[in-house]
Amino acid sequence: MAETPSTNTSLKLSGKIAIVTGGASGIGETTARVFANEGTHVVVIADIQDALGEQVAASIGDQRCIYVHCDVTDEDQVQSLIQSTVNTYGQIDIMFSNAGIINSTNQTLMELDMSKLDRLLAVNVRGMALCVKHAARAMVEQRVRGSIVCTGSTSGSHGGSRSTDYIMSKHAVLGLMRAASVQLATHGIRVNSVSPNGLATPMTCKLLKMSEENAQEVYKNVARLEGVLLTPKHVANAVLFLVSNEAEFITGLDLRVDGGLVYGK
Ligand code: NAD
Repeated sequence: MAETPSTNTSLKLSGKIAIVTGGASGIGETTARVFANEGTHVVVIADIQDALGEQVAASIGDQRCIYVHCDVTDEDQVQSLIQSTVNTYGQIDIMFSNAGIINSTNQTLMELDMSKLDRLLAVNVRGMALCVKHAARAMVEQRVRGSIVCTGSTSGSHGGSRSTDYIMSKHAVLGLMRAASVQLATHGIRVNSVSPNGLATPMTCKLLKMSEENAQEVYKNVARLEGVLLTPKHVANAVLFLVSNEAEFITGLDLRVDGGLVYGK
């Protein structure tokens, strides 16, 4: 039985039902916290890191956030995530499709490890498409004028000397977002993406084998803007804008959070 949503209209996401994939860590975790602080009725964190996800959900608050195990590469699990959310809360207003991985090897074109490429595309592209597909179906079925945001990357709009599979996957995210935004517009559903520059998160600290502080030093060099370091909060605020009513007429947009990207590194 759905509970009555909160109606504090001074908050940007008052009473909304939101799902955040990859919400146990990094950008997803911070965004789940920002959503909850802006009045969501509930944030459903979907991830495969169960202990961490449970911990994040508990720290946000039992009544305001729940953790659901969901491997986004598995259509049954994505369907069940969507179905259980609709069954419990009545509808889905916001899908932040954010789960993603990067391969630790260089993955240059000529050394491309195809099994690693397959695994990466399964999460970053197939998983992203499944989350958008099933969230859209639920929104259309429930006649909800919802909002979907995908996490792209600055890697989605230029080439690079490494991470060929990751670059391919993030170009595909923009394709998915653009196709979905056209096809869902008639239902009043908005689809956008957020494309961060490199930033220190558990994913990149592991990739670079560095502390958060040292990773931040590395990423300083890929943005022109001086005096500020990109953090998950900057990305979360961009997502908040896109899912809020302030972006009511915005769809099909890739919002770059890149501090003036330095190309060609
Ligand atoms: P992160 O590793 O901290 O968070 C990613 C989360 O996704 C993790 O909690 C992980 O468990 C989850 N995940 C991975 N595979 C999954 C699966 N199959 N099913 C469900 N959940 C899964 O990393 P992050 O940096 O916060 O990355 C979040 C998103 O931001 C990714 O899409 C990433 O590509 C993108 N991004 C990151 C950066 C960066 O520099 N950190 C830059 C641009 C874009």
